[in-house]
Amino acid sequence: MKGIGVSPGISIGRAFVISKAATTFSGVQLTTNEDIAAGISKFEAAVVSASAEIEAIKMDLNLTLSADELNILEIQVELINDPQIKDDVVEKIETDKKTPGDALLEVIANLVTVFEEMDDEYMSARSADIRDAGARILKYLQNIPPPVIPTFNGDVIIIADDISPSETMTMDLQHVRGFATRAGSKTSHTAIIAKAKGIPAVVACGDDVMMAVEGDLIVLDGATGFIHINPDESALNDYKLKRDALASETEKLKGLKDVPSITTDGVSVHLEVNISGIDDMLLGFENGGEGVGLLRTELLFMNRDSFPTEDEQFEFYKSIALQSKNNPVIVRTIDIGGDKQLSYFNIDAELNPFLGYRAIRICLDRPEIFITQLKAILRASVFGKLKIMFPMIANVQEIRAAKKLLEQAKYELTIQNISFNANIKVGIMIEIPSAAVTADILAKEVDFFSIGTNDLCQYTLAVDRMNEKISHLYDTYNPGVLRLIGNVIEQGAKNNIPVGMCGEVAGDPLATLLLLGMGLKEFSMGPAAIPVIKKIIISNSETKAKQVFSTVMQMDNSTDILAYLRQVTT
Ligand code: PEP
Ligand code: MG
Repeated sequence: MKGIGVSPGISIGRAFVISKAATTFSGVQLTTNEDIAAGISKFEAAVVSASAEIEAIKMDLNLTLSADELNILEIQVELINDPQIKDDVVEKIETDKKTPGDALLEVIANLVTVFEEMDDEYMSARSADIRDAGARILKYLQNIPPPVIPTFNGDVIIIADDISPSETMTMDLQHVRGFATRAGSKTSHTAIIAKAKGIPAVVACGDDVMMAVEGDLIVLDGATGFIHINPDESALNDYKLKRDALASETEKLKGLKDVPSITTDGVSVHLEVNISGIDDMLLGFENGGEGVGLLRTELLFMNRDSFPTEDEQFEFYKSIALQSKNNPVIVRTIDIGGDKQLSYFNIDAELNPFLGYRAIRICLDRPEIFITQLKAILRASVFGKLKIMFPMIANVQEIRAAKKLLEQAKYELTIQNISFNANIKVGIMIEIPSAAVTADILAKEVDFFSIGTNDLCQYTLAVDRMNEKISHLYDTYNPGVLRLIGNVIEQGAKNNIPVGMCGEVAGDPLATLLLLGMGLKEFSMGPAAIPVIKKIIISNSETKAKQVFSTVMQMDNSTDILAYLRQVTT
């Protein structure tokens, strides 16, 4: 069967099936006022116990939790103590005379439906958090003792409906070789945790995956999303070979961490990491990254009720700067709108959100939001080598307007007597075709370019990057896309400004020689991709890369280009 591969790698192991306890309504009606009062007290006590259980997990020093994981637990505590949920449950006990268990089940079920129906993939994935919080309270209502952290024997693959955030955190992950879930999405917690821990995972496998029984042999490919239950011997052997090859390759590549990324003919290439927070940065450095080519600041604005204040933002950028080991860090100003909506910032429904009110367009329209962020970045700029980057630039007027607001932010800090790096470098993302075509004009206005191929490709080919139905048309090797990339690199060199790339193509091994041949010297990518890209760079010469580039530019379609790149990439 096939689901969505969310954390790459091949796993082979025995199934460990986690089936959820049945949560059925009792249908019992409370009759006396004493029963109702007792029901409410029982519910309130269960909330306190459930909340204490999470706090205990947080305090357990044996669990080394990352900032992301702690954040997940914080959300759980918040949901368990959510006043609206509490009021709704109490009302159902008081008015409808329901037992606390039935009242809670009903409230949670309603809320889960509301979230599941949301169009936003991130929000709809949050229904798992609500279900998890409800189940935790319910256990105390049903007097089920707190869970024992599962300890597994041998290497297992966890099969479950969906894995709750706290379940993934309290499992003995040492023996967990993979996750396969019936439900879930790319942004579900199973996906986030699995990726962070490097455990292969496939989500959204559908009902069939639940046919697996404990002890079945499971093969799971977290890159392609394929899962086999009790495969035949030849399929199993194929996967074993693939798994072992991958494992030895990964081990070898780890040894490259301190090898400088220089081609065989002496051209130095800068490998950087794309991050949303400190954990990604440290992992990227661990893998040999030498800077941050893209700090996506949106995460700081998500999962909250209001915009972060200047001080809150400052603390975040400062902590990144302090831990950046004096490597350069490109901080991108907020790229909200499009697929990234904020619950507290209402953007009217748009017919084409990706072509709509997003990123720099919002910032120029709402200067107070923009200036707050710029001041916070400027203040943090004295703690490291921070640079500022504006996303979604379409023309020169936008750059000038954004720079004017940056001057205002600097002016305000000067008046307040707050120090900042007055010479902070300012760059733009080249991710709109008009910007790529006019790179010669835009280069006169900024200190650097960074090519965002994720958006550049969707806008050049008119293919919505989030629409699965047309994902086969999202073709980064289309000659039109490649010509735009080539033009940006060429114009950057002619105008003496550095050009980097932070879109996904920078971490695609098949593109490395071509980009190198085009003259790209700064590649920024997800932490896991760095060793593979470094291996290609140190094994090849710039002369060969230039030949690859000139051959590709004579080809008229992506199928031939890809076949050729597969052949020459070593
Ligand atoms: C891009 O568009 O290539 C990019 C890096 O930005 P994002 O994926 O955040 O839109
Ligand atoms: Mg983009």
